[in-house]
Amino acid sequence: MNKKIIVIGSGFSSLSAACYLAKDGHSVELFEKNKTLGGRCRQFIKDGFTFDIGPSWYWMPDVFEKFFKDFDRKREDFYALDKLSPAYKIFFKDDVITIGDTLDKICLEFERIEKGSAIHLRKFIKKAQKNYEIAINKVVLRPGISPFELVTPETAMRVDQFFKTISTQVRKKFKNPKLISTLEFPVLFLGAKPSNTPSFYSFMNYADFGLGTWHPKGGMYEVIKAMSSLAKELGVKIHTESPVEKIHVENGKTTGITTKNNFIASDVVLSGADYHHSESLLDENHRQYSESYWNNKTFAPSSLLFFIGFDKKLTNVEHHNLFFDTDFSVHAKEIYDAPQWPSDPLFYVCNPSKTDPNVAPEGSENLFILMPLATDLEDSDALREQYFHMIMDRLEERLGTEIRPHVVYNRSYCRKDFETDYHAYKGNAYGLSNVLMQTAILKPRMKHRKLQNLYFTGQLTVPGPGMPPSLISGEIVADLIEKEHRL
Ligand SMILES: Cc1cc2nc3c(=O)[nH]c(=O)nc-3n(C[C@H](O)[C@H](O)[C@H](O)COP(=O)(O)OP(=O)(O)OC[C@H]3O[C@@H](n4cnc5c(N)ncnc54)[C@H](O)[C@@H]3O)c2cc1C
Repeated sequence: MNKKIIVIGSGFSSLSAACYLAKDGHSVELFEKNKTLGGRCRQFIKDGFTFDIGPSWYWMPDVFEKFFKDFDRKREDFYALDKLSPAYKIFFKDDVITIGDTLDKICLEFERIEKGSAIHLRKFIKKAQKNYEIAINKVVLRPGISPFELVTPETAMRVDQFFKTISTQVRKKFKNPKLISTLEFPVLFLGAKPSNTPSFYSFMNYADFGLGTWHPKGGMYEVIKAMSSLAKELGVKIHTESPVEKIHVENGKTTGITTKNNFIASDVVLSGADYHHSESLLDENHRQYSESYWNNKTFAPSSLLFFIGFDKKLTNVEHHNLFFDTDFSVHAKEIYDAPQWPSDPLFYVCNPSKTDPNVAPEGSENLFILMPLATDLEDSDALREQYFHMIMDRLEERLGTEIRPHVVYNRSYCRKDFETDYHAYKGNAYGLSNVLMQTAILKPRMKHRKLQNLYFTGQLTVPGPGMPPSLISGEIVADLIEKEHRL
């Protein structure tokens, strides 16, 4: 029997789950609080500039290809993809490392910095590729219900890699601090310090150097447009500007939700909103996790973002640019150990108009700047302004040219916006960190412990933060619901 299923939110996880559930024949209605769909991956257009609000790195293209294939569609039916060459640049104090679009090019760059490092790099990436294959084919689709899910012949042989960290593994073979930072960078997407991230996650290095960095033409929002048009084709009813105010429970089951003062009945409720907020929609006696549980979790950082339009072209920057020209260990401490606004921050600059003319007027440049920041810090206009100038000073120094007089549009975005726009706990940008104690079964559960028809998906549950994992999270939960509710 087909079920009436309510999906809360319209991020990657909710859209993905809605598509799979509709394909299985269920009647799916999705409720999103914001005006536009996409969650963290929204977009705004201003004065001819098209800004992606959140994600900018399109990694693991295979995950997106598989998604569309599951619906007998092709990704290229919806959007075009460019492989970026170079993939990105890293600015250090005394040098700039360019990461090419092939492993051969990257090996040459490693050799330039540290003689003999290319051989180690090839071995490291080979091992990372094996981990990627295991992660994607054997582990990632498990719902995090039983600890035995993680035990496969392949993971059992690599159990040491769950207890060693990526930092120690990298330092064994590479001595140059710039190469170490380059190899530690990908796991920052998992929201924790490399010194706290299990070395099994080196599969992110294969995603980086092996599979490459891609860009959907027109911007990241093209992916959301594709997923929402697929959802509509499959019959999902989508409601925007419809914040869910309550999840109702009767006799140990959810009966539906309230939005805009209307009760809507359903057989199953699935929330892809931030988990802490989703639980707050339940009466207190039905919540599974206490405030102290959430308070003790390690969250991925929040961020200070700037969306800037320039009236001229910028030289010396690529599409993706990492400014690692200060001490990361100090910035990392200021995010995780002694939370405070950073004294001398690392930051990231995305310049999509470098390769994509669709996102800025001719002769102009579109810049997205991201500075990672601890969650739950004070957020004021004065602080945003102070850091804008700190970052501009560094950029002007590194690029060797004055750029501030050419700013024609500037919007900032920080902790308060994450809370207002997404109900993000403490203003987190991308969920829970993938530290060992928050992996798989140790993450907040996909299925409510007591209520048989309430489920959760998204970056706060399995498998974790990032667009590809959130998309996969939607598939896993849809599979679980289909198994448990089809009679
Ligand atoms: C600044 C930034 C940069 C990032 N960069 C990258 C990157 O380069 N590459 C990458 O792969 N990943 C990146 N990520 C991570 C990635 O964007 C997220 O992991 C992913 O988008 C999360 O999807 P989700 O479905 O879990 O949740 P979300 O996208 O957060 O969606 C949750 C939705 O629920 C809605 N909602 C909340 N409360 C309610 C309610 N009561 N009623 C109805 N709706 C509600 C919210 O409005 C939101 O639309 C980045 C994230 C950020 C913030």
